[in-house]
Amino acid sequence: MTEKLVVQFDQLPVYDSPLDYLAYCMGCNTYHMTDQKPCIKCGKADVSVSLECIAEKTVKRHFLNGMGILVMLHALMFVVSMSWIAILLGTVYTIVCIVLYGGIYLRYKEAYCKKELEKHVRANSQRIKLDLEKQWEECKEQINKGDYLGAYEKLRYLSQLVDNEEIRVYKLVCLNHFHLRKDLPLELKTVLLPDCNMLLIRYIYEVAKLKKELIDEATINYILRYRQQVLTEEKGEEIVASVLGGALRSKFLLNKYALALKEYLPYLPKERLLRLRKIQDGISDEALREEIISQIATLVGEE
Ligand SMILES: [Zn+2]
Repeated sequence: MTEKLVVQFDQLPVYDSPLDYLAYCMGCNTYHMTDQKPCIKCGKADVSVSLECIAEKTVKRHFLNGMGILVMLHALMFVVSMSWIAILLGTVYTIVCIVLYGGIYLRYKEAYCKKELEKHVRANSQRIKLDLEKQWEECKEQINKGDYLGAYEKLRYLSQLVDNEEIRVYKLVCLNHFHLRKDLPLELKTVLLPDCNMLLIRYIYEVAKLKKELIDEATINYILRYRQQVLTEEKGEEIVASVLGGALRSKFLLNKYALALKEYLPYLPKERLLRLRKIQDGISDEALREEIISQIATLVGEE
């Protein structure tokens, strides 16, 4: 078995919208993820802009065009006006229009930018898709070359925009090459798959040992659904028990999986058994609760 890599992941920025992970390189006119600096295609640094920035520029240009029309209308009025009174009234009217127009721009700028951003993505969806597909191919190449960390970092960004089973499987390929630690920003919900996958089962086991708080209903259901396959693994019972141990986080989960837990009590560490006894009230079935408590007493060596 190959030795696991000791890794450190970059901090993935948290944005309001997935589109914030996408940038546009003005050097080679391609779309790429925001982590790629300088641009991997043209190598130029500091020529990438966010899509939000492009939308803002478009909105600003529209505003300036509108302002230009108002000024031109005022100039036209100045030429055709027959008296100073008409010029004065026209000037006041233009100033009021400019103030109102500026006020409306400032008031609705954000909503307008959002609309422009959506319009831009719709209009360039095919190009964005092709550029992201190229990056996806690069990720696969990196994996083939054994650069699991580099590929995983890219996949984390890419999956903010494109999420499919293939990407999840490749993420798992990378994750299974890492020596996982509690301090790493581990993911779980974003790598779950519909079908049985041994890489995922092994990864879930690692997460269950390190970060029980990530084990949720979907993860427990996955392990129980493919229990027969899990049990073919070395330490299969420990894997099921460890994941079921995640149910001790909440009364809802404990009550839901109490029957399954009972079956795996011998594989739970003493600390988990004591914790289960402490929160036994979460099990609504009285007979089942009594049975579990009695088994725990036997397992921890009490009378
Ligand atoms: Zn470029």
